[in-house]
Amino acid sequence: MATATLTIDLDALLSNWRALDAQSAAQTAAVVKADGYGLGADRVARALMRAGVDRFFVAAAEEGAALRQAVGPAPEINVFSGHMRGDADMISDMMLTPMLNSTEQIVRHLEALPAHPFGVQLDTGMNRLGLEAPEWAAVQDLIMQRGPTLLMSHLACADEPDHPMNPRQLSAFKEMTDGLDVPRSLSATGGILLGSDYHFDLTRPGVGLYGGMPFVDATPVVSLSVPVIQVRDVAAGESVGYGNMWIAQRDSRVATIAAGYADGIIRAMGEKVDVFAEESRCPMIGRISMDMIGVDVTDARAEPQTVELLGQHQSVDTLAEAAGTIGYEILTSMGQRYQRRYKSS
Ligand SMILES: *Cc1c(COP(=O)(O)O)cnc(C)c1O
Repeated sequence: MATATLTIDLDALLSNWRALDAQSAAQTAAVVKADGYGLGADRVARALMRAGVDRFFVAAAEEGAALRQAVGPAPEINVFSGHMRGDADMISDMMLTPMLNSTEQIVRHLEALPAHPFGVQLDTGMNRLGLEAPEWAAVQDLIMQRGPTLLMSHLACADEPDHPMNPRQLSAFKEMTDGLDVPRSLSATGGILLGSDYHFDLTRPGVGLYGGMPFVDATPVVSLSVPVIQVRDVAAGESVGYGNMWIAQRDSRVATIAAGYADGIIRAMGEKVDVFAEESRCPMIGRISMDMIGVDVTDARAEPQTVELLGQHQSVDTLAEAAGTIGYEILTSMGQRYQRRYKSS
């Protein structure tokens, strides 16, 4: 086995979805943008359908089209970026539901596909996507006559439960939508954990399904096993890797493993990450190369054939911290070279 293996535990994925679903009385969708946060949107979505998910969110129409091929005609597929120029045929043929983000998108959609379902995204302070309050006030009557499927907004600081932005966005959302007879959605993973005020009719978890923070009780979904290419003796005083960054303080055994920054093992992790040879914790040493990393296996109980970088011993958030980033980026950076294996009972 020459390439690293990313194992995706679909049972863990479903158990995370069920746990998040149980936190609210709302309907629970699933966000599978960026190829299911790097884990394979088709497999992830088909598994989630078995747990009862019938509504997915993606970032762009192209993702929605690919997902439609994988899940068939039944589930609703919502597109966060809305109706972009040139997308009308795809939206129509692939039965996608755009979340319209601007007056321009509303005009484009109603002109091109007057009878085709759509939702509306409102901006409640994040200033990323969606209509602002005055724009919404101007088109609200027109939109309400057309029967939107959903009114949604997105929280900027939901991973910080005490942040004053959360209640501010909540009240802005209510002001813009109270009394309207349309399903509403405000919360992704972080918002679900803020409590029932934030749930409305539909929640949209992503990262929590895949085992990442801020869902602290998530079951790990991914494990990453990396083969050892070669093990060598390195005498005290000798160096390992680019720039001679690591110098052996004692006679050592050093394994070179088959993954690097081209596979999403971000170079900035440097020597802050350990890997596991069975139960032995072994430090990564020297600079991370494009396709290889050095590991000090001197103290491993047995010389390993593979090492574990993610799994029961180490989560995506541990790696994220070492790289100064978030679990989302670790997940979505995981390389195309990995062999993806799906595990379910
Ligand atoms: C990505 C995204 C989500 C899912 O967010 P998580 O934090 O991964 O749960 C939900 N809604 C919108 C608008 C998003 O962009």
